Amino acid sequence: MSEALHVVCPHCDGVNRLPAERLAEAARCGRCKDALFTGQPVALDGPRFDKHLAKSDLPLIVDFWAAWCGPCRAMAPIFERAAAALEPRARFIKVDVDANPGLAQRFGVQGIPALFVFQHGKVSARQSGVAQEAQLRAWVDRFAPALAA
Ligand code: ZN
Repeated sequence: MSEALHVVCPHCDGVNRLPAERLAEAARCGRCKDALFTGQPVALDGPRFDKHLAKSDLPLIVDFWAAWCGPCRAMAPIFERAAAALEPRARFIKVDVDANPGLAQRFGVQGIPALFVFQHGKVSARQSGVAQEAQLRAWVDRFAPALAA
């Protein structure tokens, strides 16, 4: 199996193309040379989010949140654990809805936290309210079944 995937760098947003089986090998970005996966969610603003949305072949698991939101604070450690456990099968992204109201509006985010799965620019799944790690894992199993853990 040597399907090539486009992986967007979490540091410089450079688009890297690498075989699926190399995802787990601590690959580095061809442009900025930093690690393509850090085991941590990536905070993105609108323009950066659009680049990842358009170019990533990995599912994007996105947490729409705000600093004043109590349930969002409950969601944060769950989301961080999921990123540590489930990368590089998916990219974990956080969007601050106060800083990026346009993004929240575009995807019809009402209550937060709101969890979304995007694939190839489209919404594949969504849930309002705190999601447990098992839910995030189920999404990755469903939307990235073939990718190495
Ligand atoms: Zn880079």
